Amino acid sequence: MRPDILNPLFAEITALSGIGPRFAKLFETLLDGGKVADLCWHLPYGLIDRRYAPSLAGAEPGRIATVTLRVLSHQPGRTPRQPYRVLCADDSGEIELIFFHARESYLRKQLPEGETRVVSGRIETFGGRLQMTHPDHIVPLAEAESVKTVEPVYRLTSGLTLKTVSKAIGLALKRAPELPEWLDPAHAAREAWPPWRQALLRAHAPECEADLLPETPQRQRLAYDELLANQLALSLVRLNQRRIKGRSIRGDGRLVDKARAALSFTLTASQQAAWQDIAEDMATESRMMRLLQGDVGSGKTVVALLAMLRAVESGAQAAMMAPTEILARQHYQTVQPLAAAAGLDCVLLTGRDKGKARAALLERLASGDAPLVIGTHALFQDDVAFKDLALAVVDEQHRFGVHQRMTLAGKGRGVDFLVMTATPIPRTLLLTSYGDMDVSRLTEKPAGRKPIDTRVLPLDRLSEVIEGVGRAIREGAKVYWVCPLVAESEVSDLAAVEDRHRELAGHFGEAEVGLVHGRLKGPAKDNVMESFRAGPLKVLVATTVIEVGVDVPEASVMVIEHAERFGLAQLHQLRGRIGRGAAKSSCLLLYQTPLGETARARLKAIRESEDGFKIAEEDLRLRGAGELLGTRQSGLPEFRLADLAVHGELLATARDDARLVLERDPELTGKRGQALRVLLYLFERDEGVRYLRSG
Ligand code: ADP
Ligand code: MG
Repeated sequence: MRPDILNPLFAEITALSGIGPRFAKLFETLLDGGKVADLCWHLPYGLIDRRYAPSLAGAEPGRIATVTLRVLSHQPGRTPRQPYRVLCADDSGEIELIFFHARESYLRKQLPEGETRVVSGRIETFGGRLQMTHPDHIVPLAEAESVKTVEPVYRLTSGLTLKTVSKAIGLALKRAPELPEWLDPAHAAREAWPPWRQALLRAHAPECEADLLPETPQRQRLAYDELLANQLALSLVRLNQRRIKGRSIRGDGRLVDKARAALSFTLTASQQAAWQDIAEDMATESRMMRLLQGDVGSGKTVVALLAMLRAVESGAQAAMMAPTEILARQHYQTVQPLAAAAGLDCVLLTGRDKGKARAALLERLASGDAPLVIGTHALFQDDVAFKDLALAVVDEQHRFGVHQRMTLAGKGRGVDFLVMTATPIPRTLLLTSYGDMDVSRLTEKPAGRKPIDTRVLPLDRLSEVIEGVGRAIREGAKVYWVCPLVAESEVSDLAAVEDRHRELAGHFGEAEVGLVHGRLKGPAKDNVMESFRAGPLKVLVATTVIEVGVDVPEASVMVIEHAERFGLAQLHQLRGRIGRGAAKSSCLLLYQTPLGETARARLKAIRESEDGFKIAEEDLRLRGAGELLGTRQSGLPEFRLADLAVHGELLATARDDARLVLERDPELTGKRGQALRVLLYLFERDEGVRYLRSG
């Protein structure tokens, strides 16, 4: 249960005066949430300083100023198109206040002739005279001090003005309670971090530009709180997972050795090291939670297969799950022959298996007759049961959720987990979502990989590119032609690839140019892929569906249109589809001019390096963590207050802090422990609390 003290922060924003359902909707869009707390997290990015209070004679045009004026006369426009003018003065000069689409009665009430008003806005000159168009504030003299301040500026959305947003945030901050201190007092003192509420208020009350920087004590504190909540929740999950009894999986090596003997290559040093890590994890009594990280084609599947065979050696079953049908089939093709070499049968279960065939497959899993299975989401279904599942391998975990991991765990006893990801997640980010896992990295490229020649060209050289592709085809190359997902609408994206497909088919012939995209149904998609891999297709026009793990060694050319729209990590993954065969490969990145600063740096990074981890670090530097990989689809947590590009170092401290706290007070019952519970709820990481016995 959420502690009562947080209730004011978790009230709907419609509870604030002046915010009805219509505004609430707009706020929801702006804040990505509808709670008072979401308003609190909406920190200012700029400020307006209204402390400049010159006399009119000394006023610098162009500046925001707060001036004290006598209202001389109203001059309504003669036609509705003309502005309404109010002539005002102080002892040193005159100024005109200008209003468009004005309501006379309203202005006469605000600015009665003969009275004095304090007016704030941008002062400008027009034809040698001072003007202020639509002042931001007009108040009586008595309220002057309420105007001569520094106003924070917030990101807005259409339909919401700064005034409305500022007012709502002001009301939200009023509701923010004092919370018990969850930081280690010595740590907070060392960093000179203010208490939570004070930090929040200060972050919303910048006095100068420097106060807006992420390095201020108040912003650091808020960021740290968020990271600490994240790390604490992960540590709790980890503790809990270790608490569930694991099992010791040992084998005599009879299957592993056979499969290794059947490989046409020897394992790389890092494959060997990863396999050793895994075998040791499996042998211990606790559950394995290991991430196997390796660039596209670095040989993760082969390592995973050895782990699966180890599970079978001990008399149990193993499952491997892939995020897409194509990938599941591909893994199956890698694994099946090696399993067969070890004398085992491996089965494939996907959403396409229906009726009797599916029932037969399920029966084989339930009876233990099938020791190895590779599948898609279909494996999560309730009616899928195992005789004795001991190992689950999950490929491209970032496309699955943590709770799905849990679902699989429920299908066996003390299930060991091996998660494979081809996304070269930088170390800082690893901590945020895989902080609960141990990590093995495959660092070498598999034998036989050749460097890829990467070039960056403007889109208006398309016809040259098409000619070049023609030459490559005549020399026997296969070509990927990737069109981006624009996200404007699925329909227009589809239209874009279809247009390109038609154009290329016109050049090279219908029979040689294929098309795959996300809307294509399973069998149709597989047909096209197969026809590209082994059939007559020479050019495959595709959306990013080919991003994940398709293996066509003859493909040696990749063209990526609108490369500036892709993330670095994504470009890297796409490019990894080529350079797999004997031929020299080239990748052409076509961009739309003009190219922005960051996009230019990104394309440069991808042209200059093929090291996925390096590219990922660069991506983090260039884009900030929020955008990296497209956070949402990656499953990496989104932070509201922490910016990992800046607050990255805080993360390691937060992790150590969380671990230490849980060592001392594993149930979070002490004074600091209780406060930390509040923190978990504050950042809605309360899934962690569920694992506490007295939660
Ligand atoms: P990943 O799963 O990391 O994308 P795979 O395990 O599918 O990579 O391996 C990609 C290709 O490289 C496969 O054809 C595989 O047989 C081959 N391969 C794997 N390890 C090695 C190695 N050590 N030497 C040579 N080829 C390898
Ligand atoms: Mg174990």
